[in-house]
Amino acid sequence: MKMMIAEIAKAVSAENDVTGYQDVELTSVAFDSRHLKPGALFVPLVGNQDGHRFIDSAIQNGAQATFWQRGHANQPTNFPVIVVADPLKALQDLSRYYLNKINPKVVAITGSNGKTTTKDMVASVLGTQFNVTKTHANFNNEIGVPVTILDMGANTEVLVVEMGMDRPGQLDFLSRLVQPDVAIITMIGEAHIEFFGTRSKIADAKVEILNGLKADGTFIYDGDEPLLSQRAAMVDFDQLTFGRNGVNDIYPTEIHDQPAQTSFVTNKWKDFTFTIPMIGEYNVNNALAAVLTGALFHLRPESIRHGLNEVHLTANRTEWLTGNQGEAILSDVYNSNPTAAKEVLHAFAETKTTGKRIAVLGDMLELGVQSKAMHESLAESLNPALTADIFLIGTDILALRDKLAAKYPASALHYYTKDQLEQLTNDLQKEIQHDDMVLLKASHGIHLETVLNNLVN
Ligand code: ATP
Ligand code: MG
Repeated sequence: MKMMIAEIAKAVSAENDVTGYQDVELTSVAFDSRHLKPGALFVPLVGNQDGHRFIDSAIQNGAQATFWQRGHANQPTNFPVIVVADPLKALQDLSRYYLNKINPKVVAITGSNGKTTTKDMVASVLGTQFNVTKTHANFNNEIGVPVTILDMGANTEVLVVEMGMDRPGQLDFLSRLVQPDVAIITMIGEAHIEFFGTRSKIADAKVEILNGLKADGTFIYDGDEPLLSQRAAMVDFDQLTFGRNGVNDIYPTEIHDQPAQTSFVTNKWKDFTFTIPMIGEYNVNNALAAVLTGALFHLRPESIRHGLNEVHLTANRTEWLTGNQGEAILSDVYNSNPTAAKEVLHAFAETKTTGKRIAVLGDMLELGVQSKAMHESLAESLNPALTADIFLIGTDILALRDKLAAKYPASALHYYTKDQLEQLTNDLQKEIQHDDMVLLKASHGIHLETVLNNLVN
């Protein structure tokens, strides 16, 4: 962004007069005083900490102006201040103003899983023809979305925004803020079910992404999910669906799993093979959403193919690594929920190996009353003929061990409590041979990254 202070003050209905600082130009916004670029507008947010306390450090690091909450103590003097009722709201108002000014097409993406991946794929596909700005990292909430908007250069033609939610009303707010031209829901899973209670309530909260969709906008969603089709039938927007099922606008007619990539053919272009540089058949669904978006923007399949080939993942959280013994490690230690865990177990079991497969699974957190049943349900995705050894760590995952005891020999099942990470690491290291394949998957709270760091030096 690039705006003079007077323009900003007007956009956020400043309560003070900034004409004394007419020449001040702002080129970015920042709410962390340690990470701001010279020329930044500092936004003191009040959360666990009060951002106003860091104004001196912000100024030292090059901030050129700051928002200031009306009446807040220690307002700097001799420094450009824009007084507002609420700095967060001012940030959001400014982003809304700037979005109108640049006026790109907006693609908004939500879903229980696959938001970041789909965001990266859509941005890469549209990036073959357009100047695209996408959500940085995982900045997907009421702070991250405005920051993403204000990060846009003036030449941005398409803005691709990830939108997260863990409460009703959040997507309503974010969608009205960005007023998307395209709204994508990747899938409905069980993330945050502890709070919502049912998948149906999760679906209600996800379709709030339609609340700000422009009247001539398009809704793209997982057509295999009845909770979404039912809700889609009740709205007037243009719609496109993706999924496995032949009733969808796009579906794969062939899928080929390879060691570090996945190829697929769709019903839309029968002699066209698309390849994505990642494994997991669920990523084909994410890619299909990107293909539909590309086609909606009139891209030719050659461009779409090129964009998918080149996708740069923000954080390829499911990654293949090579361990110290030469073993292949499929690591996904930052989040886990039943849908994602089953998908990864499936991809893992499908990947060829000359050695044995060892799965290390930890608790999936925040699943509420259904937690034990959901842990137990992973047993369907584990087969002793394919995945020989199972290491489990956590509390609710005990339910899975009990379930697995029916089909696995006791010697193949290893269980640890959360504080036994070190023991697990030692036992696992003894078990691993150089042809083996190891899967690591758990919610971040289990800290399987410690195990990973011991396996890979
Ligand atoms: P977050 O809520 O943390 O921002 P996200 O929705 O952005 O997550 P990604 O970062 O794209 O999701 O993917 C996280 C994990 O979710 C992946 O590593 C994979 O295990 C799983 N996943 C991704 N896409 C899908 C999908 N379409 N269906 C099921 N699981 C998926
Ligand atoms: Mg994400």
